[in-house]
Amino acid sequence: MLELVDVHRTYLIGESTVQALRGVSMKIEQGEFVAIMGASGSGKSSLLQILGLLDTPDKGDYLLFGHNVNTMSEDEQAGLRNSVAGFVFQQFHLLKRMNIVDNVRLPHIYSGVKGDFRKEAVERLRQVGLEKRVDHTPNQLSGGEQQRVAIARALVRDPLIIFADEPTGNLDTKNSAEIMKILKGLHEEGKTIIMVTHETEIAAYAGRVITMRDGLIVSDERKIGRELSVTVGAAQEFEPHLAKTVSLWRDGRFTGFMQQAFQAILANKMRSFLSVLGIFVGVASVIAMMALGEGAKAAMQEQLKSMGSNMLSIRGGSAKIRGAAQGAGAVTRFTFTDVDDIAALRSLVKNATGVVNGGARIVYGNKNWSSSLNGVGFDYGTMRASVPSTGRWFTREEIQTREKVAIIGVTVVKELFGGSNPLGRTIKINRINFKVIGIAPAKGFSGPQDEDDVVIIPVTTAMYRVLGKDYLSGIFVEVISPSLIGQAKSAISEQICKRHRLKASDDSFNIRDMTEIQQMLSSTTQTMSLLLGSIAAISLVVGGIGIMNIMLVSVTERTREIGLRKAIGARKGDIMLQFLVESVGMTISGGVIGVLAGIGISLILSFFAGWAVKTSLISVVLATLFSAIIGIFFGLWPARKAAALKPVEALRYE
Ligand code: ADP
Ligand code: MG
Repeated sequence: MLELVDVHRTYLIGESTVQALRGVSMKIEQGEFVAIMGASGSGKSSLLQILGLLDTPDKGDYLLFGHNVNTMSEDEQAGLRNSVAGFVFQQFHLLKRMNIVDNVRLPHIYSGVKGDFRKEAVERLRQVGLEKRVDHTPNQLSGGEQQRVAIARALVRDPLIIFADEPTGNLDTKNSAEIMKILKGLHEEGKTIIMVTHETEIAAYAGRVITMRDGLIVSDERKIGRELSVTVGAAQEFEPHLAKTVSLWRDGRFTGFMQQAFQAILANKMRSFLSVLGIFVGVASVIAMMALGEGAKAAMQEQLKSMGSNMLSIRGGSAKIRGAAQGAGAVTRFTFTDVDDIAALRSLVKNATGVVNGGARIVYGNKNWSSSLNGVGFDYGTMRASVPSTGRWFTREEIQTREKVAIIGVTVVKELFGGSNPLGRTIKINRINFKVIGIAPAKGFSGPQDEDDVVIIPVTTAMYRVLGKDYLSGIFVEVISPSLIGQAKSAISEQICKRHRLKASDDSFNIRDMTEIQQMLSSTTQTMSLLLGSIAAISLVVGGIGIMNIMLVSVTERTREIGLRKAIGARKGDIMLQFLVESVGMTISGGVIGVLAGIGISLILSFFAGWAVKTSLISVVLATLFSAIIGIFFGLWPARKAAALKPVEALRYE
């Protein structure tokens, strides 16, 4: 069944080499109970590890049921360790954080067979006399009991061969005898047993004793009268195990890994909490900072809109205010025809409205007040965000019929009416009676000028009844979109030149826009967002490094666990996935709590500090995604490191 041909194994320790096996050849038949004896350091464990597929020879062949192990892939070997071999170690190698049923059924995670196998595990525990201790953890058991759990674990996949390396090495005589009784029973049931020991009394249980010295077999004795417990057809039993490839997603393997990762996270609560904290802080600050940045941006956009972000103002006269160029006759006077002309530029202009400005002496009762007068068209209200929230805007008829109605700014309200309601009252503007129909929305100061110290009346009324003018002071134009401002400016300029027969060089009117202010504001918000974003990103990266650190520590600390998992059949991918699931699980949970906290923080900021905040879906998605990526990125390296370990190396790790 097993055949070694001239097997060598040499260990490298720094510069020097140790030849543990120096050409071992032997055969072991199905149903044998073999004891490998010899002094310490003679190569017994090295031999057993090669037989058990935990290690590979440097030189020589190992034939398992006629199949050369050298040609098998790592994953195939792992599969065979899971289904054909069962291991019992001197140090038991039970996982301390699981109860003993979970320890016993552990090999099933890597088997690809569906089910939870609790019943099988309990049955195996009964076989070794521990059925009453199923919920205990390994720490609550004596050494002998722990070794019996390990035997139950070795049996749970019903293997063909049991490999035992000094199974009684850590036990007293009484416990040793019990363990040997169990092994002997298993042999009688038909299992092949290969056991390493240095004690003659223990070796006496076996039917064949191989003695080693300095990496070579020096004697090989079969006891007469000890029959093999041969089972017929075992070679055929072996074949199906070889071909088996196990899918990750089917057979519930993935859920198994999730449970394992969850257990591992819970087993180190404080440490997991701390590493989750890093991601949590990072994600929460990303969300909060982005909400702040977005809020500021939205607030500024709102402000821009009230100023008219895509607004043009056309005035007669030179742009060089108070400049020498402004002589007599250098002013273009606009009329409603100009407004209509400009409004006709449909592809660029959304709205155009004429305005006329002047001064107003306003009298109410015994109070009087000087203010500025704005005569405006119907569209001015929406274009300049001047539609009152108290009272109403003008109707088109009122503007057409030169109605004497007025909307007054809050400063005027305060000066003339004090605390009382001005709506419906009659005031005198330049000695003409006007009815107050609304209060203009407060706008505050623009430079030294109080924008709320204003009276707004229909443009026709202002021109023909109050100011006695037949031309406009200027025209406001709303361009379709801010990107068309430049184009609109030149088209309008051309239009005006044509109508008034001006040369392009004439400086008798000017068109101004808000782009300067807009650019300034948007570059400020951009700088701020960038600053906030980078602070948040730094904290996320720091959090990620924290996770990597924890995972590295965890891998190092759990090296022997990794060794055991590989010994019972975990493949490289399984180990890697388990650690990845662990780190991604931690970062994602940190991310999710962080998102909630980030939203909470921004709400608190907006509530108590009155800051504008705006949580965007994209920042939430981005932060969650980012935390998952951090989990994968920073978890990958430790996971790879863990997966690359050879089972023997990992098991020997102290
Ligand atoms: P035994 O089990 O018979 O006591 P081993 O097979 O464990 O002996 O070891 C045989 C020799 O190989 C010893 O000299 C031991 O120090 C050496 N050895 C075993 N494993 C390693 C290893 N992983 N690295 C270096 N040397 C090793
Ligand atoms: Mg040994």
